[in-house]
Amino acid sequence: MSTELDELYQSVILDHSKRPRNFGEIADGAVHVHGDNPSCGDEIDLSVKFGADGLVEDVKFKGMGCAISQASASLMTMKLKGKSEADAREMLRAFHDIVTVEVAEPPRMLGDLRLLAGVKKFPQRVKCAMLAWRAFEQALERKGDGPTVSTEPH
Ligand code: ZN
Repeated sequence: MSTELDELYQSVILDHSKRPRNFGEIADGAVHVHGDNPSCGDEIDLSVKFGADGLVEDVKFKGMGCAISQASASLMTMKLKGKSEADAREMLRAFHDIVTVEVAEPPRMLGDLRLLAGVKKFPQRVKCAMLAWRAFEQALERKGDGPTVSTEPH
C-alpha cells in the first residue's frame, strides 16, 4: 500500500470511528441483532428496517470497540440503505472477499469500504471488519419474523 493510500485509509477509518454515520437505534418495526467479537472486545447492536418491497429501508447501529469495527459498521450502513436483499448479499460477499483474499479490482459498489481491504494482512482484524456484516447477515435471516435476537457472528 502506498503512503498516500495509507493516509487516506487512516483518515477515513478515523473519521468514521469518531463520527459514526447512522449511529443509533430504529425504534419501530426493525430487526435487532446483537453481535460481538470477543477476541477484540468489539460489540454492535444493529437494527435493520425492511420496507414492504423487501428493500433495506433503514439501518442503524450502536457499538463500541476498535476503529476498524466501528468504521466498517458506519460505512456499511451508508452503503446498504435502499438496497434489495440480493444487492445487499452481493455486497456482503464482495466485502468478505476483499478483506480475506487478494482481489485485483475491488467492485466499485463498495465505495470507501474498499479502503478496508488492507485488513486481510491482519487475520485478527478480519473479524473486526466483518462484525457488522455478520450481524447484518443475521438480520437478513430474521427478516419477517421480527423479534430481537442475540447472536455471536464468526
Ligand atoms: Zn476490533
